[in-house]
Amino acid sequence: MDATVNPSKSADSAPQRLTVDVAISGGGFVGGALAVGLARHGVRVAMIDRVDPAVALDRGFDGRAFAVALSSQRLLAALDIWPRVKITEPIRHIRVSDGDSLFFLHYDHADLGDEPLGYMVENRVLRTALASAITAESERIVRLTPATVIGLTQGPDRATLALADGRMVDASMVIAADGRTSTLRELSGIPLVGWKYDQVGIVATIGHARPHDGIAHEHFLPAGPFAILPLADEYGADGTSQHRSSLVWTERADAAAGYLALPEKTFLAEIDRRVGGFLGELSLMGPRFSHPLGLQFASRYVDRRLVLTGDAAHGIHPIAGQGVNLGYRDVAALIEIIVDAKRLGLDLAHPAGLARYERWRRADNLLMATACDLLNRLFSNDVAPIRIARDIGLSIVNRLRPVKKLLMRHAMGTVGDLPRLMRGEAL
Ligand SMILES: Cc1cc2nc3c(=O)[nH]c(=O)nc-3n(C[C@H](O)[C@H](O)[C@H](O)COP(=O)(O)OP(=O)(O)OC[C@H]3O[C@@H](n4cnc5c(N)ncnc54)[C@H](O)[C@@H]3O)c2cc1C
Repeated sequence: MDATVNPSKSADSAPQRLTVDVAISGGGFVGGALAVGLARHGVRVAMIDRVDPAVALDRGFDGRAFAVALSSQRLLAALDIWPRVKITEPIRHIRVSDGDSLFFLHYDHADLGDEPLGYMVENRVLRTALASAITAESERIVRLTPATVIGLTQGPDRATLALADGRMVDASMVIAADGRTSTLRELSGIPLVGWKYDQVGIVATIGHARPHDGIAHEHFLPAGPFAILPLADEYGADGTSQHRSSLVWTERADAAAGYLALPEKTFLAEIDRRVGGFLGELSLMGPRFSHPLGLQFASRYVDRRLVLTGDAAHGIHPIAGQGVNLGYRDVAALIEIIVDAKRLGLDLAHPAGLARYERWRRADNLLMATACDLLNRLFSNDVAPIRIARDIGLSIVNRLRPVKKLLMRHAMGTVGDLPRLMRGEAL
C-alpha cells in the first residue's frame, strides 16, 4: 500500500515506498525553490538530495555568491524565500571594461527607476533561507537527504525513482534538478550537446579598505572575465565593519592550478594587479574555490513524465551571472504549468503541459547560453583587431541609451515571456 506524505518524515523515518504528486531529484537552488513553490500551491512533493543539508550550509562548502536578477528576486519573494534571505547587497551599477582600454560601458539602475539591477547573495545565505522555507512547507514536502537517485522507471500512469538505499518514490511527475551531471538525464537517455571552455573559474571572497559603492565590475582580461561583485559589509562582534566583494576570476585552465596554490600574499598581489588598486588594501576572507567551465545543453527538456530544469537542462558560462537565474525561470514556468493542470483536474504530467514547458524555456535558455558563449569568445583574447572593434562597440553602446536600457532589462531578467510569479502576479 502507498504511504501518504507525513510532515515529520526524514530520511531515516521515511517508508520504503512513498507516493507523492511530484518527485524532485536535487535540492539545490532550483530543486529547493521548485519544492517550496509546488508545496505552497497544494502539490505534495518529495525532494531528494545526495548531500546532507548540514554539510551544504558549511562556510567551506561553496564560496560562490550569486547575482540574483530582479525577476528571480520577485519569484523568491512570491515563494516566501526572499524574506528569509538575511544578507544581501543591491547591485546598483555594472561597469564593463576591457584590459587597459579607456573605453567602458556603465549601466546605472537609476536610468530605469528605483529598483536595483539585482542583488548579490552568498551561497550559504541563500541556502539557509531555502532550508527555512522548505521546513515551513514540511506538511507537503518530504525531504529525503542524504539520499541518491540511481534508477528511473517511466510508466503510463506514474514514474518511479529508485534510491541507492533501496527506497522507491512514485510520482505523477519526476523533475530533474540534479545539476550538470544529472543522473535522471542520463537514465532517460536524453543526449547532451556542448563543450568545455579552456578556462577555470577561481572564486574567492576578498575584504578591502575602500567601499565598492554597489558597483559590479566585469573587467575583461585575455584569459577571461575578472568579475568583482559587491557583497554586504561584514560586522564583527566589536562593531567594526569590513567591506567585502566576491571574485569570479576566469583563468586559463593550464594556469589556474598555479594561481590557486600561491601563498596568500602572492595570491592577493595577483588579484590586486587585476583589480587595479581602486579598492585599497585587500585581504582574503576564506578559502579559494575553483570551477571548471563548460557549456552544455540537453537536446530535449522533457520525456515521459520527466522534466529537466536548471543546470540539468542547461549549463552556461558564468560571464553574465545568469545560470541560476535561468533555472529560476524554469522553476516559475514549471510551477505555473503544474498548478494550472492541478486546478483543471488534469494529469500533472499531461503531454500538452510538458510540450508547453519545452517551448517556453528552451528558446530563452538557448538565447542566453549563446549570448554568454559569444561574449566570452569576443572578450577572452588579445587579438588587436578584435580588441579595437570591441572597444569601439563598448563606447558606442555606452552612448546609446535605448540599447543600454534594453541590455539592463535583460540583466534584470524582466524581458520576454515571463511566468506570472516573476511578473508579481499570483497563480
Ligand atoms: C564560478 C561560478 C559562478 C556563478 N555565478 C552565478 C551567478 O552569479 N548568478 C547565477 O545566476 N548563476 C551563477 N552560476 C551558475 C549557478 O551556480 C548554477 O546555475 C546553479 O548552481 C544551478 O543550480 P541547480 O540547482 O540547477 O544545480 P546544482 O546547484 O548543481 O544542484 C544540483 C543538486 O542535485 C543534487 N544531486 C545531483 N545528483 C543527484 C542524485 N543522483 N541524487 C540526488 N541528488 C543529486 C546535488 O547534490 C545538488 O544539491 C555560477 C556558476 C559558477 C561555476
